[in-house]
Amino acid sequence: MTALTPSTAQAATKVAPEVIVRPGDARYAALAGRGYNGRFVATPDEIWLVHGAAQVEKAVNQALARNQRITVRGGGHSFEGLVDDPQFRLLVDLSEMKEVRYDPAMRAFSVQAGARLSDVYRALYEGWGVTVPGGVCPEVGVGGHVSGGGYGPLSRRHGLVVDHLQAIEIVVADRGGRARTVVATRDPGDPNRDLWWAHTGGGGGGFGIVTRFWFRTPGASGAPSSLLPKPPARMRKTVVSWPWAELTEAGFTRLVLNHGAWHAANSFPGSPYAVMHSSLQLHSYFAGTCELEIRWDATSPGMERMHDSYIRAVNAGVGLEPTVTVKEGTWLEIALEPTPSYGEYSRQKSMGGHLRKPLTVEQVGAMYRSLSDQSHYGAGLVYLAAYGCKINTVSSSATAIPQRDSVLKLWYSNNWADPAQDEIEVEWIRTLRKSVHGATGGFPVPNARQDGGYINYPDVDMRDPAQNTSGVPWYSIIWKDNYPRLQRVKNTYDPHDVFRHALSLPPTRG
Ligand SMILES: Cc1cc2nc3c(=O)[nH]c(=O)nc-3n(C[C@H](O)[C@H](O)[C@H](O)COP(=O)(O)OP(=O)(O)OC[C@H]3O[C@@H](n4cnc5c(N)ncnc54)[C@H](O)[C@@H]3O)c2cc1C
Repeated sequence: MTALTPSTAQAATKVAPEVIVRPGDARYAALAGRGYNGRFVATPDEIWLVHGAAQVEKAVNQALARNQRITVRGGGHSFEGLVDDPQFRLLVDLSEMKEVRYDPAMRAFSVQAGARLSDVYRALYEGWGVTVPGGVCPEVGVGGHVSGGGYGPLSRRHGLVVDHLQAIEIVVADRGGRARTVVATRDPGDPNRDLWWAHTGGGGGGFGIVTRFWFRTPGASGAPSSLLPKPPARMRKTVVSWPWAELTEAGFTRLVLNHGAWHAANSFPGSPYAVMHSSLQLHSYFAGTCELEIRWDATSPGMERMHDSYIRAVNAGVGLEPTVTVKEGTWLEIALEPTPSYGEYSRQKSMGGHLRKPLTVEQVGAMYRSLSDQSHYGAGLVYLAAYGCKINTVSSSATAIPQRDSVLKLWYSNNWADPAQDEIEVEWIRTLRKSVHGATGGFPVPNARQDGGYINYPDVDMRDPAQNTSGVPWYSIIWKDNYPRLQRVKNTYDPHDVFRHALSLPPTRG
């Protein structure tokens, strides 16, 4: 058994007291409104701004004593109302917990759970020249992102962010109805190893409140600067843009099929193309363009030739000469570029999945019909992100996220401004999803071509039998054969279902 005590750092340093913000306080609206999706608003009686595990324990104990429903917000980038739900009366807000440092006792980098990816990328790179292969959006928080199994522009080269997760510090509510802090590590002898494992893709908010993550690449040794991947010295970012007005259905179909075929051929472990990441962003007609965003290690041998051949392969037979915009910068400059904002289009609905094989002609036809539909005004998007390579060197059961042989990650999204349009815009994305995955009950149910959902692209429709007609339960669509082990972790560490939301596993009895 590994002898570790919770948060030695916290005991050693003086920690500011928790701040409790209630309705009527000038700070309340901004804190309650930190969620990404304007369709959902939090209305808690208390928002606890905490600074360490002991204060989280205090909040959990109060919630247990007063029978208050409790939730936690990290970076606030959930697409669903998992946090912003009226059932929650006590909201633990981690936004002041964003310290990143090297922890010699753990021989790993300690990241407090309220950090955003931008905090992590900057601190790890400026301090030690290293990074973790996390998401493309620097505003996303590690709290939800890591727990859900996050991926990003360096994942084809270095795997998922959880492939580098060494340990977590987490506050759970035990069988006796008291909060306690547990450190759970990936070490084989750790009795809490399954709790660590649940946070390698099992999703946030359903087991406890993580207060700290530790990162170290398995097998790495030596100085801190050798314990995590080194990002490229320079990155090239290219945007290839096709104008919708000139894109015929045949051209659109060619584009998506070419892209799928290229990724099916070049995403195997050891592929020389692991140095690149891309996302094909098929926007609604109103956006004016469809785009391919490419990020490439600008120092990799043969970069120019491989980069150009990729664009040629994707554009072959499309019948248009796309606009190509290229820029270069340090890895950190590119990594910290903010994600384009949807502005007042803050209302959102999305859903995600994985593709083992390229989309079929019929599926691409369904996408074309939805994206060219001019009877709605939402900013619809089909996003096909490069996956595979190093990600696919890890076994399906090694982490809670089981998808380890896909070549593309899939994300359907729609954004709009007007609450009066909610029904129309939600229906638009449902129609898109159902028409692409009609053969499998409306969702990318695992089979030879597709490989299930992604908890970090949550869609509560999966729980609704009127929407999910696949006959496969929502949790098996997301976690496949890893579900029973996650269920056991839930039964052990949260037997009273203190930490729950619309897409968490309830404990089972017996
Ligand atoms: C613009 C945008 C871009 C994105 N890009 C990517 C990407 O490139 N790659 C990718 O993999 N994903 C991406 N995502 C998805 C992202 O990983 C998830 O939305 C993630 O869950 C957000 O985490 P958060 O802490 O910011 O969100 P929150 O809304 O704070 O939390 C999400 C869930 O996790 C829980 N949670 C948060 N913190 C903790 C904690 N400390 N302990 C326990 N539970 C916790 C919450 O209760 C909630 O259920 C993107 C999302 C957005 C909005």
